[in-house]
Amino acid sequence: SLVAGVLAVQGNVSEHAQALARAGAAYDTGIEVREVRSSGVVPDCDLLCMPGGESTTISRLVHGEGIAPEIREHVERGKPLLATCAGLIVAGRGSDDRVETLGLLDAEVERNAFGRQVDSFETNLDVAGLDEPFPAVFIRAPAVVDAGCEVLATVDDRSVAVRQGPIVGTAFHPELTDDPRLHRLALLESPSVTP
Ligand code: GLN
Repeated sequence: SLVAGVLAVQGNVSEHAQALARAGAAYDTGIEVREVRSSGVVPDCDLLCMPGGESTTISRLVHGEGIAPEIREHVERGKPLLATCAGLIVAGRGSDDRVETLGLLDAEVERNAFGRQVDSFETNLDVAGLDEPFPAVFIRAPAVVDAGCEVLATVDDRSVAVRQGPIVGTAFHPELTDDPRLHRLALLESPSVTP
């Protein structure tokens, strides 16, 4: 079975674990989920999720706990990473001094890009690689303002899903709906995983 790590310093950890279980069920693939709170776990993982939360807090803990170099090595080995919302901010190139980003995605990510007054919204989003629109939940969401990588989806001309090698980043929260397709696309259908 596959080992999936979910960065558990903050954010929707159990929701990602459930989404992984749903995605794996469709494939008859057993998925064992491990919470990543410190270094030493990521090297055993086949798949990785970096959830939303508060990007300042997540980046501080990722660097402080020595997890950052392990995430870098994970993607350098071609293993898939799904980074959602604040996870996308941390995976990308920052525009905010308070967030020490990993720069794994060639994407400049702006925090709260839809304005604080638009706290959250949901929309049926066309995503490259998916046949039907995806029910995308945005919560104080970021957006990619300068993408040097592949753009998979846009809202009002803002990029909200991107892909670069084994990394998929979304500004929305695929773990907050029952729809497992984004986790499948990003993680289980990644070339290093699909037999
Ligand atoms: N606004 C948050 C940040 O900038 C991200 C929002 C989220 O992850 N739901 O860190």
